Amino acid sequence: MKKDGGGRKFVLGVDIGGTKIGICIGTFEGRFIARRRLQTKVDEGEARVLDEVVRSAYDILNEAGLTLKDVLGIGVSAPGPLDPREGVLFSAPNLPGWRNVPLRGIFEEAFGVPVYVENDANASALAEWWFGAGKGCKHMIFLTMSTGIGGGMILDGRLYRGSTFNAGEVGHQVVLPDGPLCGCGKRGCLEALCSGGGIARRLKGCVRRGETLMWDMVRGDLDRLSAKVLTDAVRKGDPFAKEFLDETLRYLAQGLANLVFILNPEMIVLGTIVAKEPDLFLEPLRRLMKEMVWDEHLKGLEVVSARLGDEIGDYASFSIVLNELNSTTLKALERREEE
Ligand SMILES: [Zn+2]
Repeated sequence: MKKDGGGRKFVLGVDIGGTKIGICIGTFEGRFIARRRLQTKVDEGEARVLDEVVRSAYDILNEAGLTLKDVLGIGVSAPGPLDPREGVLFSAPNLPGWRNVPLRGIFEEAFGVPVYVENDANASALAEWWFGAGKGCKHMIFLTMSTGIGGGMILDGRLYRGSTFNAGEVGHQVVLPDGPLCGCGKRGCLEALCSGGGIARRLKGCVRRGETLMWDMVRGDLDRLSAKVLTDAVRKGDPFAKEFLDETLRYLAQGLANLVFILNPEMIVLGTIVAKEPDLFLEPLRRLMKEMVWDEHLKGLEVVSARLGDEIGDYASFSIVLNELNSTTLKALERREEE
């Protein structure tokens, strides 16, 4: 591997999730040199979990033949809410017991290099912007649709965090007043209607024996209904499933249209469910949005699926560091890319 004079050419990334933690080392161009996955043993407490992360990070540095002198910064992606300026994780629904964890302080003490912390939705938006579908664009909205709906916004070429770092909560805009209850306590949020969890709960409320293939597909066990069961049934030609998906797409298009009216993006990047079944989602969404927004908004607007797939967590933790580098470093990187 080519290592030129100045050293410190590498980035260490830590992606903390409720079930897994990804640790990786790579170059600025997003070339991974070493990676490792750990199970998040939440019940052992944050101190032991983070100790294991630190040990593993040192291990993979060793394996890669690098030392901390080669590492320019560490990016930590974690579920929020958190304060990226202080690097403190306030709390996270999928990390029970973790309260006010000073992630930056802990990692800076362990490694002695700059540490940058970002919530996972914003970090994923940065990842798709730096390395994925949004490369080179200036105004991009990213939505990830799994259990919930998270989002991140790149506006005017920068991550937009808002006054209390809570911007980009695109999943909690209300698209159906008095609609189904959302995990946040409100009714009719986009997340309650169109996330994987929201779709499963809505299906549970309407799937009946004899009316749809979905009943037989889950053998009457309605707890097994999911977005995947829905899209499988649509592919089998089930009219009930098709109608349900159409309704879901209308809610989703409404949510996206709201964002378009306010932010006038050039690209909307949709992850997870949409990225897995682009043909069932993207064309109908583009068509529906055409009816909902103005022609001016549509000029050059692209609605696309995310590109990074299951690797997004690694790229996300990386991108946090890239996002924090000063413009001089970035210009040097751009020159290197051009060469
Ligand atoms: Zn909500």
